[in-house]
Amino acid sequence: MAMKPEADGDLLIANVGQLLTFAGPKGPRSGTTMRDLGLIKGAGVLVEDGLITLVGPSREVMSEARGVETIDARGRLVLPGFVDAHTHAAFAGSRQNELADKLEGKSYAEIAREGGGIQRTVRDTRAATEEELRVETYGRLRRMIAAGTTTAEIKSGYELNLEGELRLLRIIADAGVELPLNVVPTFMGAHAVPNEHRENPTAYVEELVRTTIPAVASQGLARYCDVFVEDGFFSREEARSVLEAGKTSGMRPKVHADEITSCGGAELAAEVGAITADHLLHSSTTGLKAMKRAGTIAVLLPGTSFSTAGLPYCDARRIIQLGLPVALGSDLSPNSWLETMQFAVTLACYHLRMYPEEALCAATINAAWAVGSEEEVGSIVEGKRGDMLLLDAKDYREIPYRIASNLVNTVVKDGGIVVSRQ
Ligand code: ZN
Repeated sequence: MAMKPEADGDLLIANVGQLLTFAGPKGPRSGTTMRDLGLIKGAGVLVEDGLITLVGPSREVMSEARGVETIDARGRLVLPGFVDAHTHAAFAGSRQNELADKLEGKSYAEIAREGGGIQRTVRDTRAATEEELRVETYGRLRRMIAAGTTTAEIKSGYELNLEGELRLLRIIADAGVELPLNVVPTFMGAHAVPNEHRENPTAYVEELVRTTIPAVASQGLARYCDVFVEDGFFSREEARSVLEAGKTSGMRPKVHADEITSCGGAELAAEVGAITADHLLHSSTTGLKAMKRAGTIAVLLPGTSFSTAGLPYCDARRIIQLGLPVALGSDLSPNSWLETMQFAVTLACYHLRMYPEEALCAATINAAWAVGSEEEVGSIVEGKRGDMLLLDAKDYREIPYRIASNLVNTVVKDGGIVVSRQ
């Protein structure tokens, strides 16, 4: 299982069958450019001190790299490590008991009203010791790495009080140091109104704005600030005040937008200059066009529709045709426990009607843009981190096509081999 490499490595990957580089112009990909894989056949890649230094025909790269530890890919498919643009991976407990409720047709809101959903996980997470929380969270992250994720955005939002949210964000930060994973931390104190504030949600929003957000920012614990804009969670006005406070403290907005109802989430994301708006199942065309003008990336999360009773799938074709760049995330959470981006890519093709090329772009280079890590990861080009996957596949279309298999043969992180099935 995934281990942190001893040091940033030198490594040559030779005899790659299809190499998906996603080399291309700067900027998140939209429209037909989402289908441009930058595919090279018979390629090699050299990594030195953890960074990619040469990409080209295998024989040429080999002649430049004598004496370097070499992986013979034997015609395998190689692509950038997956970037998971949206997870709630830091929590304790589980909610498998809700599966039967879902099968009986109970909605997300009904389950929440009966004491399940986010509030149940908040209770479990608050009750966990720091060690329990760390062990459970790291276990999920190790399985994500084994399935090919090398960068993940991780949100707080299951403690919903100052000390608890800081505890979650510290564990998230530690994971990025202790595991072979680039971690992008997001503060999501506005995930739900905690039960103790149910009678006065305004007081909770004020606490976030006045106390929690400045504390998170002063400790440098989050790059982004996210809000769940939805009936029964946070109104547009409440979300705006949280996101503006985040911006004042140096955290760029992200928005859970229009997941269950059309509630103006896309419009709000555009208005506050969010880097992404996520879900977008019920967004208005006006809202999506405003996002495009604002440069807000659409993050789609088909795993949530797969696992939530009554949720439709997002119409990705409509979003791509409007010219928005699309990224993918797992939305790993106790509601939608998806640890593998390979299956997210499958769902994106079969249910969002994305082409395999678009889904893979959305799970790599566009997801890197969606988490602000585009300078470091998401494509196999000189100067980026040596984060790559060798798959037991010859053709990239096998990733969505071979349903729910783990095709990962080797995970390379910063030039070090962190998972190997050879
Ligand atoms: Zn989410």
